[in-house]
Amino acid sequence: MPKAEETILEVDLKALEHNLNHLKSRIPKHTKFLAVVKAFAYGSDACEIAKHLESLNVDYFAVAYTNEGVQLREEGITKPILVLHPQTVSFTTLIKHQLEPNLYSPKILEEFIEVASALNYNNYPIHVKFNTGLNRLGFAEHQVDYLAETLKSTEAIHLTSIFSHLAASEDLNEREFTLNQINSFKRIAETLTKAIGFKPIMHMCNTSGILNYPEAHFDMVRSGIGLYGYGNSEKENKNFKPISTLKTVISQIHDIEPGESVGYNRAFTSKIPVRTATLPLGHADGIGRQYGNGKGYAIINGKKAPIVGNVCMDMIMVNVTDIACKEGDEAILFDANTTAEDFAETANTISYELLTSVSQRVKRVFLK
Ligand SMILES: *Cc1c(COP(=O)(O)O)cnc(C)c1O
Repeated sequence: MPKAEETILEVDLKALEHNLNHLKSRIPKHTKFLAVVKAFAYGSDACEIAKHLESLNVDYFAVAYTNEGVQLREEGITKPILVLHPQTVSFTTLIKHQLEPNLYSPKILEEFIEVASALNYNNYPIHVKFNTGLNRLGFAEHQVDYLAETLKSTEAIHLTSIFSHLAASEDLNEREFTLNQINSFKRIAETLTKAIGFKPIMHMCNTSGILNYPEAHFDMVRSGIGLYGYGNSEKENKNFKPISTLKTVISQIHDIEPGESVGYNRAFTSKIPVRTATLPLGHADGIGRQYGNGKGYAIINGKKAPIVGNVCMDMIMVNVTDIACKEGDEAILFDANTTAEDFAETANTISYELLTSVSQRVKRVFLK
């Protein structure tokens, strides 16, 4: 791997392929695979990731918002793209780019039918989400009859899939709750299928669902974090390879005398002589202030250098008193060994948040 000369997020596409293959080995052959590439593919760059995954023949993509789907289309992605959380204001843009909306409530369903009808569409593919316990988005079970009637009343749209989302698929203490969600989704699917006379694609599992609930794989699964290399448990992490390495380079070394302070608000004051290294990334690059004052770290020449004082917008200072290093040496915030999950845990958050926080000014470099 090339040494960093500035702050970069290095993305290993071979590792992405490994993760995809592992996830596919955990689902039946006939089960479709939807790759979740929302939030810049969890910070790694949605277009590059989607292009690579399209070449590896995933069946579907999902993004959260319409503009994310537009970007993929503009980069030439041709597979179907599900927009998980569209807003009415974006419907004409969504249709223009052949994106497929999740219609999660009577209001948004009726508004979409109106727009699709006005544009004279026939059988425009749509998806419907059911709320089975997450209480975030989706139709309730008691709205199935209304849904069936509404779908039968128009030719403008076609129900391609129905889905639901698990609230605690990574938490085996919540197994009973999860099994209830699965049963409720099965009941909904059965009633709806009977009422409309055909069976749409059914999907429910995110990454942890794929790994922990094979009985809920149905016709398709949706994976995000697994593709990016995290299995959400110590046991499962062994099967995955984190695809992203956040690394940078030491800008300057300072020797701090007893009584001197480091950084804003003088948050760190030393009683003993300390050596610090200043690194060119800060909270504007995705290393939030919660990682300051000894929580987060950089790995320099194989050793952990904790963050000293507050995280600045564009810089952090790390303690290298016991580490042989010099200006120009590489510093790793997270990689496949000391992972984003480990780093995130130092501030009580999760890999998802850290990965999606790596800001757009950090250059992405792809290993092919
Ligand atoms: C983000 C998201 C996923 C992906 O979840 P992972 O835990 O990253 O695999 C799947 N389904 C829905 C509805 C989502 O919002």
